[in-house]
This record gives sequence, structure tokens and C-alpha cells, in this order.
Amino acid sequence: MNLNHKGDKEYKEMLYEGKAKRIFKTPVAQEFFLEFKDSLTAFNALKKGSFENKGIVNRDIAALLFEYLEKFAIPSHYLRKENQNGMLVKKVTIIPFEVVVRNVLAGSTAKKLGIEEGTPLSEPLVEFYFKKDELGDPFVSEEQMRIIHQIPVRDIDIMKELALKINKKLTELFAEIKIKLVDFKVEFGKDSDSVILLADEITPDCCRLWDMETNEKLDKDRFRRDLGSVKESYESVLARLTQNRRGK
Ligand code: 5GP
Repeated sequence: MNLNHKGDKEYKEMLYEGKAKRIFKTPVAQEFFLEFKDSLTAFNALKKGSFENKGIVNRDIAALLFEYLEKFAIPSHYLRKENQNGMLVKKVTIIPFEVVVRNVLAGSTAKKLGIEEGTPLSEPLVEFYFKKDELGDPFVSEEQMRIIHQIPVRDIDIMKELALKINKKLTELFAEIKIKLVDFKVEFGKDSDSVILLADEITPDCCRLWDMETNEKLDKDRFRRDLGSVKESYESVLARLTQNRRGK
């Protein structure tokens, strides 16, 4: 992999630094530069790590997935790749709710309900979590979103519908490369015309991806649970996706 960042455009005015990404202003008012960092965090940043080239790998995975979803009329903030580890994105105002879709019970919901991880669900389950680090991103019901947070029902419905469509298309794509999409988290934002767009990222940082044959985890749970081979797993997801796309 080319480690030479020479020739990358420099964006100087940083607007926001998150745990795994940074956002910069660009000369175009309605465009931001989204840079993927090499860092890796879990449990609300109580656990920190990194691996070399993670930003490049995650940027490539996110770009490939946004480009794939666009073919199925799933609108996102993604415009194009920029530099080795970034992308230009449309400026959006993030709706402060994480949308989780689960196909198989794992992680927080399996734990909360005392159900064995790996239990398949009869249909995809959509859940919302309020984005607030100080509160540890608590689960919220749709009624709480509507009545307490004043999120219009229409917006809730659009996010749900898009999340389910994303789930369907990504489940199909990952199945082609023998990976089971167990669950994932997405975020949505509104552009200057108030259109709801898929935003943030879709990478192994925010998905559970299990090898269909071995059930091996290929996502951030390798880091969360100290399973080792984090870098190799992320790289294998990218390699499988890239090979699959080449075969099209
Ligand atoms: P869980 O609720 O089981 O912890 O997470 C469900 C899915 O959403 C997992 O794929 C997990 O990686 C993703 N997810 C949930 N919350 C976050 C978050 O705050 N950040 C990231 N990167 N992913 C999240």
C-alpha cells in the first residue's frame, strides 16, 4: 500500500474532530472534506487504539459502499474520494440519532435482553439511539423521539425506510463475498434543501461482519473484545469487496 501522502491536498480549517474522523472546510461552501483517522476507539473512547493505514482502508470501504448504494437510489452525502484517506462530502446537519439495524442479535440488545449472541431475528430490527456521549448514546423509542425530541414522524419514517433499504442492499453485497451482515449503525443528515441523506460512514467500525463459513468476526468487535488481527480483518473486508467489484 502506498504510504506516501505527498500530493495530497491540504485542508487547514478543521470544523470538528471525532474519534475516528475529522471534518474540514473546503473552498466550496456546501462541501466538506471528511478525513478518516488511523485511530480506533470503543466503549465511548474508554478504550483507545490504532493501526497503520486504518484511515485509508476505512475510507476505501466507505467510498465503495456509498458508491454501491447510490446505484440503488440511496442518497448519501458522499461526493468523491479525496486524498489517500478522505472524501469530499455534501454539507449536512446531522440528525442526532444513530440508526441501528439488526439481522442477528448481538452486542448491546442481546446483552440487555439476556439472549444468546448469534440468535437470528425473524425480520430486520431497526432501533434508534440518541447521540450523546455523556449519556453513552441511550436507546430511545420512536415515541420518545417524536414527543420529547420533536422529530417529525415523517423524518423517523424516512430514516427507517432508508435504513431497511440499506440493510437489504448491503446484506446482498456482503453475501456475495461470504460475509454475514449481522448489524450496523448509520447516521443521517439534512442538506440545505432539508433532504435526508445517509451521512457519516459505513465501515467495519460500525458494522458487525461475520465470515459466513467460519463465523469469524471481521469488524470492530476484534478490537473491543481483544481478539487480535484487527488490521488483517479490516483489510480482508476491503480486499473481498474490491475483488468482488472487479468481477462485475
Ligand atoms: P450495539 O448496540 O450492539 O453496541 O451496536 C450495534 C451496531 O451498531 C454494531 O455494529 C456497532 O458497531 C454499531 N454501533 C452502535 N453504536 C455505535 C457507535 O457509537 N459508534 C460506532 N462506530 N458504531 C456503533
